[in-house]
Amino acid sequence: MTSIKIPKTHPRAESLKIREKLIEHFKEGVVASAGLIAHGSGEAFDYLLGEKTIAPALKAIEAAAAILLTAEKPVISVNGNTAALVAEEIVELAKITNAKIEVNLFYRTPEREIAIKKLLEKAGAKEVLGVGKRASAKIPELGSERRRVDPRGILIADVVLVPLEDGDRTEALVKMGKKVIAVDLNPLSRTAQKATITIVDNVARAIPKLIETTKNLKMQGLEKCRKILHSFNSKRNLAESINLIKERLSKAAKSVELSVETENFDF
Ligand code: ATP
Ligand code: MG
Repeated sequence: MTSIKIPKTHPRAESLKIREKLIEHFKEGVVASAGLIAHGSGEAFDYLLGEKTIAPALKAIEAAAAILLTAEKPVISVNGNTAALVAEEIVELAKITNAKIEVNLFYRTPEREIAIKKLLEKAGAKEVLGVGKRASAKIPELGSERRRVDPRGILIADVVLVPLEDGDRTEALVKMGKKVIAVDLNPLSRTAQKATITIVDNVARAIPKLIETTKNLKMQGLEKCRKILHSFNSKRNLAESINLIKERLSKAAKSVELSVETENFDF
């Protein structure tokens, strides 16, 4: 279905494939134009992470799995980019964790709501909350369409997974007493800073890993989940991610400096 053919040997094939997915779903009305820009910002941070799941993200994924499994009313909040990249995985994760799936958009239009709902249903979702009149409740402190949530979903949830969220809304959900799990490539964003647990990783990699971890942890029982949460320090974990970027940048700068000594440039 992709509009251009990406050679398997291309050094950045994976990143290009993700771009193509987003462009396709942009054309179908699932992804907002601003979603494409948000993706670009994510790509820049992914480059800094080496385009792989870093060790602190794996720890945060474990904590996220534990908090989802111990939750009473977990909800997975889905926007256009998330649906475009991991619709099937979201449905699988919801099944394993008994979570509800809710469409929650920054740029809410009836057409986009329905396009995302359809995509999720095609991926196997039986019920999709937050669409049309169902999103009748409001998150306090937020203006306009951004505040609308489903009274059977995010409004009464104790744990909300928000892959790719905006900082204001993350903060508002935390203020409502909810535990918020964010997946955000930018460890400096307000979302990353405000969430209860932040997974600094690409949703395309993090959600499949979260499924795997949740399956394993489910077999080990709730006591194991509580232990993991007890020993997890969210702020320290976020600091580790930032430090890792710092170290990678230092190494990159050193290697460029070394090449100054070995390479000749004739201008
Ligand atoms: P904030 O509102 O939290 O301060 P922001 O305004 O810079 O952040 P938004 O556009 O509100 O950014 O949210 C998009 C966020 O999602 C960005 O931080 C971006 O880096 C991140 N992002 C984009 N694509 C991905 C992806 N595929 N996986 C994970 N994170 C992503
Ligand atoms: Mg924002």
